[in-house]
Amino acid sequence: MLHASRAYETLYLSKKEQGDMAAALEYHEKLLRTRHHVTDIKTAGKIAFYQMRYRSAEKDREIADLSRENRILALEQQINRQQTRLTLVVTALALVLLLILAVLVLRLRRERASFAHRARHDGLTGAANHQHFMAATERALAHCRQVDKPLSIIVFDLDHFKRINDAHGHGVGDDVLRAVAEACRPVLRTDDLLGRLGGEEFAILLPGSTPEDATDIAERCREAITEIPVAAGLPVDALSASFGIAGLAAQEEPSLRHSELIARADQALYAAKNAGRNRIDLYDTAAA
Ligand code: GH3
Ligand code: MG
Ligand code: MG
Repeated sequence: MLHASRAYETLYLSKKEQGDMAAALEYHEKLLRTRHHVTDIKTAGKIAFYQMRYRSAEKDREIADLSRENRILALEQQINRQQTRLTLVVTALALVLLLILAVLVLRLRRERASFAHRARHDGLTGAANHQHFMAATERALAHCRQVDKPLSIIVFDLDHFKRINDAHGHGVGDDVLRAVAEACRPVLRTDDLLGRLGGEEFAILLPGSTPEDATDIAERCREAITEIPVAAGLPVDALSASFGIAGLAAQEEPSLRHSELIARADQALYAAKNAGRNRIDLYDTAAA
């Protein structure tokens, strides 16, 4: 088109010079038409170019949007993975802490129970200590009175125990004390309680037992104690104990205190000692 435009221009100028004005006018018109055509083509080309550029920019933007979305998705996945890992770590930590706490609570409970047991029991024989035995007797007496049941107490003391210590030493004396508690335990029932009142003096609390029931139990304990040197293999020639028993029938002497009942059993024990030892004496309410 550009060549045609130049050719018309040359022809137009040459005809004009020649003075052929009609031909010059004709070529001028053609020149103008060709020029317009060229301008139209140029404009269309420019429009197409800009359209292409616009489409390409649009595509670039779409690609950028897609890659941004992909990056966001990847980041979200990464965050999700990290959150899952964090949740796992936190759960594991919480479980470990819970476990440590449970172990500590269990150990604390066990220590508290063992401390409470040690506070209420004699370390040598495992029998209830004086304070615990007295408190248990007071509670049992109140309960038996409430439920209309009898209650009996046995108090017993080893005979000539000092001689054992003197002849074999304090260690053997301790072994004998332990063996005495061991020998009496199988004779007792669930609600009965063996106590060590002090030294080589023991007591048995028998809720629900009459003095006659208590006498049977005392007799079995007395026999078991005499068997200790052979049964427990202790280097002791002979071992025995003297027993005193006091009991209360249901609704009998409602104002009698637990300590007075124990004192009565103690009184019967000394009667047994005086009567020759290795025997059982019953507190006699009528004689008192
Ligand atoms: P009785 O027949 O009159 O009861 O004479 P006994 O020798 O048993 O009584 P006594 O009160 O004269 O002596 C008791 C002895 O018990 C004296 C004391 O050293 C001893 N004893 C007290 N507690 C313990 C102890 O825990 N271990 C040892 N090995 N001996 C103890
Ligand atoms: Mg004694
Ligand atoms: Mg004594």
